[in-house]
Amino acid sequence: MKYTDLKIQTQREAPNNARTEGFAFLVRAGYMTRENELLPLGKQAIEALERVSKEISFFFHIELPIIDNSSETFFESPAGSQEILQCEKCGYAARKEVAKAKKTPFSQETQLPIQKVETPESSTIEALANFLNIPKEKTAKALMYTRIADGRFVFIVVRGDMQMSETKLKDLIGEIRLATVEEVLKSGAVAGYASPIGLKDALIIVDDLVPQSPNLVAGANEAGFHLLNTNSGRDYAPEITADLTLAKEGDACFICGETLTGHRAEILASENRFYFDEILLALAETHHDEKGLTLPKSAAPFTVYLMQVPGKQMDTRSKAEEIYNQLQRAGVSVLFDDRDERAGVKFNDADLIGCPIRVTVGEKALQNGMVELKQRKEKENQLISLDDLFSHLKK
Ligand SMILES: [Zn+2]
Repeated sequence: MKYTDLKIQTQREAPNNARTEGFAFLVRAGYMTRENELLPLGKQAIEALERVSKEISFFFHIELPIIDNSSETFFESPAGSQEILQCEKCGYAARKEVAKAKKTPFSQETQLPIQKVETPESSTIEALANFLNIPKEKTAKALMYTRIADGRFVFIVVRGDMQMSETKLKDLIGEIRLATVEEVLKSGAVAGYASPIGLKDALIIVDDLVPQSPNLVAGANEAGFHLLNTNSGRDYAPEITADLTLAKEGDACFICGETLTGHRAEILASENRFYFDEILLALAETHHDEKGLTLPKSAAPFTVYLMQVPGKQMDTRSKAEEIYNQLQRAGVSVLFDDRDERAGVKFNDADLIGCPIRVTVGEKALQNGMVELKQRKEKENQLISLDDLFSHLKK
C-alpha cells in the first residue's frame, strides 16, 4: 500500500497521556490516536496479526513473551488491567479471582459438642475472634445471597480467615445478588450472627476447607449469640462443597506448593478468542528501541518499507514505483513511501513505523542496478542488486 493512501501521520513527540512506552510509539508512528482508536495503519497491523493467529504457536511466531494457562494468555505489564497470581516453579497462572491456592487443614481434632455462648457486639469476625480470644481460622464466616435465576436463598460458609471470591461463586451457581433483609429473615438467619444450622429452604454451599476444619465458631441465628464447635456435615448438610475462596500473593501453589507471586497483566487471549488491540500494544511494548518500533516480520503491518531519494539525472521515483508494483505482484507486503519529503524525514518515519526491512531507491546505487537494503534492527545498510532483492524478499 502507499503511504499517502493510508494517510499516515507520524508525530515527533510522545503523547503526554502515554501509559506505556509501547503506547507512545504506536501513537507517534500513526497506528492509533492518543484516544486509543486505531488508525488505518493500526488496522493494517491488526489484519496482519489476524492472519498469523490462525497458525499454531501464534505468540511464539510474533515473538511475544506470554504467561499462559489452558484457557487464558496473559502479558505481564505494570499497566495491565488484571491482577494475576503465578507460580514460577510449575508455571501455574490465573486471574486472581479464579486462582486456586493450596489450603492447609487443621491438625486432626475430635468433634466436640455444640455449645451456645453469649457474644455481645460480636457481629464481625474480627470482633468475635477478639471477644473469644481465638484465631480467625477457628471461626466460620457467613455470606448470604439470592440466586437471580430462581430467587433461591444461598448461604455460603468460608473459614473466617479467608475471603470469598464472588467470581468463583458465580461460576458455580450463576448470577447472584446480595440477599435483602427480608430474605435473610425469612430463611431464619440473623445477620451478623448467622449460621446454616436450622435454616429453611437455603442452598447451603461451603468452601472445601470448611469440612476439614472441625469445631468452628458460627452464629447461633440469634442476635448476641454464637455456637462453639459447629461441624459441617454433622450440624448442617451442605448441598455443594467447592473451592470458593480468593487466593492471594504468598499463598501456596495448589499444584506444587511453591509460593504464588502477584503481577499486573493484560489478557491477550481466552478460549481461542484473541484481543488484537492488546496484542498490538504488547508487541509495541516488547519490540521498540529509541527510534521507534522494531516489529518482527510476522507481526509487522508490512514487511518492507520502500522509499526513494530524488535523483539529479535519473527518475528514481518512477523506478521505485516500478519496484513497488513488482513486489506487490510477487506477494511481498510492502508500504511505499510515495511522499515528496526529504530523505531524512522518510528515514525517521521508517524507523518509527518499524517495518523489518527498509529498501531505499537512490540514484548512485541504481546506476549499478542496485538498491539499498537495511534491516530495521541492524545498523548497517547493504547494497543489493535488483534481481537478488526479489529472491531475498520472497524468502
Ligand atoms: Zn506451582
